Amino acid sequence: MRNELLIGGVWRQGSEDGRIAVLDPATDEVVTEVADGTPADAIAACDAAEAAQVKWAATAPRVRSEILRSCWQTLVDHTDELASLIVREHGKPMADAKGEITYAAEFFRWNAEETVRIRGEIGTAPSGANKIIVHHPPVGVVLMVTPWNFPAAMITRKLAPALGAGNAVVIKPPREAPLTALRIADLLQEAGVPGGLVNVVPTSTSGAWFDAAVDHRAVRMLSFTGSTEVGRVLLRRAADRVLKTVMELGGNAPFIVFDDADVDAAVQGAMVAKMRHSAETCTAANRFYAEAGVADEFTTKFAAAMAEVKIGSGFDETVTCGPLINKKAVDDVDGLVQSAISAGASVAVGGSRVAGAGCFYQPTVLGNVSHDSPIAAAEIFGPVAPVIPFTDHEEMIRQANDTEMGLTGYVYTRDLAKGLRTSERIQAGMIGLNRGAVSDPAAPFGGMKQSGLGREGSGEGIYEFCETQYIATSW
Ligand code: NAD
Repeated sequence: MRNELLIGGVWRQGSEDGRIAVLDPATDEVVTEVADGTPADAIAACDAAEAAQVKWAATAPRVRSEILRSCWQTLVDHTDELASLIVREHGKPMADAKGEITYAAEFFRWNAEETVRIRGEIGTAPSGANKIIVHHPPVGVVLMVTPWNFPAAMITRKLAPALGAGNAVVIKPPREAPLTALRIADLLQEAGVPGGLVNVVPTSTSGAWFDAAVDHRAVRMLSFTGSTEVGRVLLRRAADRVLKTVMELGGNAPFIVFDDADVDAAVQGAMVAKMRHSAETCTAANRFYAEAGVADEFTTKFAAAMAEVKIGSGFDETVTCGPLINKKAVDDVDGLVQSAISAGASVAVGGSRVAGAGCFYQPTVLGNVSHDSPIAAAEIFGPVAPVIPFTDHEEMIRQANDTEMGLTGYVYTRDLAKGLRTSERIQAGMIGLNRGAVSDPAAPFGGMKQSGLGREGSGEGIYEFCETQYIATSW
């Protein structure tokens, strides 16, 4: 287990003596402490990235590509160890943690393939006077700030394309779950990533850390994943230096079940969309709109499936939902549930916190929720599913889009044309049509509206970490 800072390829303590306690949310116990990075450490990491980046950018794409592929293999070879770290500091079930490592590693394999295919262009100016050459150099040094809910994948989804394109990075992993990030950086160096390209500096003072790093003259880009609230603050600060930004922010996904849907398939999809990774995903289905003809059947069957969920430590392989990240998360989820119940929602299953050690909440389905209830407006981030019945299709679409968020949406119907028409009308960057999962390294991940700017993954992802340069040429 690594618990120091990685700066310039060297593991070291912070410039002051601070330590950050990492808690196991299933037991409330301290797992270990990691070095607490200061603003001076953030600056040292930016200096190290600046020093390493020039040589890396000049390294042949094929060589960079092969190092990325070796990173994929190394992470896959360490799946069990990395998954155990995720379970320890995040709490998600072991099967989800292993799935996260497969997904996280895949960004290296995918981007190894993209690294040797970064396109350029040549054309003749309309006047015929010269040629237009366009190419895509790396941006330089990239700051990455990542959340706790995917301690591995939210880093590699950025890191692999950034390295592939020829950049160096400084990562601020989440305070709650820094251990996975530190061990991944360690393994990447083992896999051949030159020292100084990947710097990891956890901190308990994220505001001061970020202020120091963002003002470093070598930093040219911010890639952030986290809440919309924090994203707005960092965007404002990045504007001071006119940084390129990619922002992957919060969600509030509608999950729509039409009368003609296969209800059993919809319930299965709802369980995936709601419950994976302890119900703490940005793509989580947040509001379930069920058409009147199937609303009761869907609610009853969904509640029965939720009643089968086993909560507990992710290390118990029979557990299908782990703890929430901390006690505050439990309080927030419970506040939303109790206010929905007070406003008239029925409890089909669950409805309260679990007493005792750990940060557990009962898998909960609420029936007859009103679209105006605060639970429909908030990003729930817990195992709670409010079902909102509907009769009028137009009104349902209006309600589905009645949010500043636009990350994901889900549609269930047997009529594919209706499903596609509805998908087009949902204001979200990603739609699951008769599917409860959308994430794929080969697909563009990102949100509309206040769910974000830019895309990760797919062919687009690597270009986010590139500049565009045009050379007007006469020959
Ligand atoms: P968060 O916004 O609280 O924190 C994200 C990161 O920002 C953490 O590393 C945190 O320490 C850091 N941070 C917080 N305040 C900061 C500041 N003032 N300066 C610099 N850094 C600061 O989010 P979270 O609670 O870690 O994660 C959950 C949120 O992330 C949810 O809203 C979820 O939807 C979102 N998320 C989005 C995606 C996506 O791809 N769109 C993926 C995963 C999570």
